[in-house]
Amino acid sequence: MGNITLKQITKSFGDVQVIPPLDLEINEGEFVVFVGPSGCGKSTLMRLIAGLEDVTSGSIEIDGRNATETSPAKRGLAMVFQSYALYPHMSVRKNIAFPLRMAGMSKEEQNAKVEAAASVLNLTDYLERRPGQLSGGQRQRVAIGRAIVREPAAFLFDEPLSNLDAALRVGMRMEISELHKKLATTMIYVTHDQVEAMTMADKIVVLQAGNIEQVGGPLELYHRPRNTFVAGFIGSPK
Ligand code: ADP
Ligand code: MG
Repeated sequence: MGNITLKQITKSFGDVQVIPPLDLEINEGEFVVFVGPSGCGKSTLMRLIAGLEDVTSGSIEIDGRNATETSPAKRGLAMVFQSYALYPHMSVRKNIAFPLRMAGMSKEEQNAKVEAAASVLNLTDYLERRPGQLSGGQRQRVAIGRAIVREPAAFLFDEPLSNLDAALRVGMRMEISELHKKLATTMIYVTHDQVEAMTMADKIVVLQAGNIEQVGGPLELYHRPRNTFVAGFIGSPK
């Protein structure tokens, strides 16, 4: 579970092609980071994988099945948004349980799954609070909890920490890495922050203007950047 293959996908908005033909293989359990400057197509690529946008051409396979025409809900992926998109009038418990309630799961089963997720995320003591009573980092964890209970084949994070202050960001970065170790689920993580990419990724995808400039492990990119763009962005100082 969690193998994602992009085959010659393109995306145009009107006459403007923001993703030229692109191939990418994401393997089960990998922590893959899309990194690149603002406007290079990171969010678009995530939205294509999630199914929130349709590809203009090409195909997306998830676990060997063509998912190109599959609705976002049926792709089995969970997207964690930068704006937490929590319901302010609902408790943390109800926020996390929301997708389960929509799926018609019994109260007992919902509670068991919510409590397991809360335990992984250190939210056990906050389940009866409202989002407004939580810190930014805790709210972010609730949003992740809502993704966890769906038991997705992969988690998609689009700059999830960009609303947090620098100190909190470092802590959350470690928490997400820990979560990846605990769950061993594929995670795709978008950032424009080189340090985040270097410290979190198994595999980094460096993007510029919708093109993949290089794919590789952090050390490989650091020591053997393929071109001056990658070198300038994350390569070792020469
Ligand atoms: P990033 O997330 O790397 O900052 P985006 O994927 O948001 O970049 O944007 C990539 C390019 O696609 C930008 O030039 C942006 O203006 C354009 N774009 C993104 N979404 C739309 C849209 N819905 N309509 C038109 N252009 C868009
Ligand atoms: Mg973006």
